[in-house]
Amino acid sequence: MTLANGRHTLAIPGPSIMPDRVLQAMHRPAPNIYTGELIDMTAGLVPDLKAVARTEGHVAMYIGNGHAAWEASLVNVLNPGDKVLVPVTGMFSHGWADMAARLGIEPQLLDFGKRSPIDLDAVETTLRADKAHEIKAILAVQVDTATSVKNDIQALRQVLNAVEHPALLLVDSIACLGCDEMQMDAWGVDVVIAGSQKGLMTPPGMCFVYFNDKAAVARQKVERVSSYWDWVPRAHPEQYYQYWCGTAPTHHLYGLRTALDMMVHEEGMETIWARHAQLARAVWAAFDAWGAEGPIELNVSDPAHRSNAVTSVRIGAPFGTQLRNWLTERAGVTLGIGLGMATPDDPAADGFFRVGHMGHLNAHMLLGTLGSIEAGLQALDIPHGPGGVAAAAKMCAE
Ligand SMILES: *Cc1c(COP(=O)(O)O)cnc(C)c1O
Repeated sequence: MTLANGRHTLAIPGPSIMPDRVLQAMHRPAPNIYTGELIDMTAGLVPDLKAVARTEGHVAMYIGNGHAAWEASLVNVLNPGDKVLVPVTGMFSHGWADMAARLGIEPQLLDFGKRSPIDLDAVETTLRADKAHEIKAILAVQVDTATSVKNDIQALRQVLNAVEHPALLLVDSIACLGCDEMQMDAWGVDVVIAGSQKGLMTPPGMCFVYFNDKAAVARQKVERVSSYWDWVPRAHPEQYYQYWCGTAPTHHLYGLRTALDMMVHEEGMETIWARHAQLARAVWAAFDAWGAEGPIELNVSDPAHRSNAVTSVRIGAPFGTQLRNWLTERAGVTLGIGLGMATPDDPAADGFFRVGHMGHLNAHMLLGTLGSIEAGLQALDIPHGPGGVAAAAKMCAE
């Protein structure tokens, strides 16, 4: 018998759960894209997007996913032949570096494995050795969605400052903007990229590239940027169509407007960060209890380097795949697959999964997912310690 009928929960690290209000805001006929409310509404999104990343800099909006943001950030500040330093803490750092390489940029990788944050001493040594300042930028991922490792971006900037290295600091916050704290200006980040479909609770299809004045100067030195990817007209359009280099993503904009109302004007960023931190602690408490006996283990051991948006779990093959399948079919909740932990043809790949806890999520939704996981562990006879749900509930009561 299945118990999955009811509202299905997608607990994967993006796309995240969207508020009904966001969905309802999109359910309307197409607006005029030349005059009228859409024009004013779009301009009003800009200050609210900046409030989410805590910046007074610039923001360019694109019709595209996170990969589009990767490309946009690279082509606006780097020329073919430029060197970039990529501290790797999971699969997503490799993705960004590979894209840079395809553009003729030369990535230098520092790989810190799949369970550890960026080693700042290693970054410092590399930067000090670069006496000629050939490294033009650091491509850092704030939260690697595959490993759920969270990196300390402020500390990374302090290393650049200590070494007096002029490289730009580019940060991929696609997984975690709106879940884990981001202070773009206070932390001295030059470029931040984000997508609509994770902490911003809007369907996949829009991405955002924030940049400061230092990055704007770097943009002027780039020899060739296609008119589609150029962030200058998008951030400072003279005509409405220049925001998008063409037709606006009309319905996404209504959804995003509502999401930003909820985030910036209703709940507030501090409260959102605190909510995600508390819910993440509930997730960790559950897995710590289950992991007290048997194979279950959080991928990141130090809580300071865990994300508030996503949690990667090791459970051993074939339990990860079995548990995910059981949950979808029997309980109506879908967990994320393990990504980049083992090659897909390696049977060990069945030993990982991820829980997305980003965006529109409250205690009852999360406890439902965790309770379903506990049911699955019992049903499948996966060895585990007692009291996972109770530990999570206790954390939600604090
Ligand atoms: C989701 C994600 C991406 C890729 O986004 P897509 O929309 O799938 O292209 C890149 N980086 C991080 C950290 C992500 O979480």
